[in-house]
Amino acid sequence: MSPARFFAPEIREGEVLELDPEEAHHLREVRRISSGEVRLLDGRGREFVARVLRVSRREVLVLPETLARTEPHPPFRLELLLPLLKGGRTEFLVEKATELGVTRLLPFLSHRAVVRPSERTGERLHRRAIQALKQSGRLWLPEIRPPEELSRVLLRVSASHRGFAYEGGGQFLRGFFREKVREMALASGPEGGFSPEEAALLQEKGFIPLSLGPYILRAETAALFLMIAWRYETLEGSKSR
Ligand code: SAH
Repeated sequence: MSPARFFAPEIREGEVLELDPEEAHHLREVRRISSGEVRLLDGRGREFVARVLRVSRREVLVLPETLARTEPHPPFRLELLLPLLKGGRTEFLVEKATELGVTRLLPFLSHRAVVRPSERTGERLHRRAIQALKQSGRLWLPEIRPPEELSRVLLRVSASHRGFAYEGGGQFLRGFFREKVREMALASGPEGGFSPEEAALLQEKGFIPLSLGPYILRAETAALFLMIAWRYETLEGSKSR
């Protein structure tokens, strides 16, 4: 099992902090910890060794004692436009994106999407990213935007090298990745695909249509394909732990 890691967005060395309810539950009920040392992640590149001071129904208090590890800012950045999918598949993709080092996630709604987000969708995606962070040992939490219509999400994209997986065909990925750009944006569509208007809008906003081969992939396969291809192209020699 990986070391017991917990997430706290604001960590100051030597200052007692109270874990939020989900993290407290994880420590108490799942890991069954009542004392000793744990690791704390701030999601912004730092991992601390912390002492467990108090575990009760009401609160869990920990004291961050020393900085154990830091991770430099990711040298390559991917903004991934994620379709909202049914059956927990968007959560699945958030988990994979976190493990694969994606830096920013922009969930979107589109014409042919099957699901509509609820008020809790954003929170669920955030929790899933935190779980993946703790499990994987990554120290940077991806930024996750609240779900919005595709047309609005497109206004929030900052990378200028942009592509989208289009079942209607396009350039093959290898060519798109040829320029080793530090920052890029990639999108793929929902179960029903992009409507012709959305495909036109994406292109108007500078997204190059990309082909993922001759077969029709499921929405989650297409998104995974994009993030793994990006990871493969940009990963620099680093030791695995
Ligand atoms: N229902 C649509 C397919 C949607 S596939 C149809 O039958 O035509 C869901 C998404 O996966 C698409 O919007 C696209 O972004 C991506 N995708 C699937 N297969 C692809 C391929 N061969 N090339 C590029 N993108 C693909």
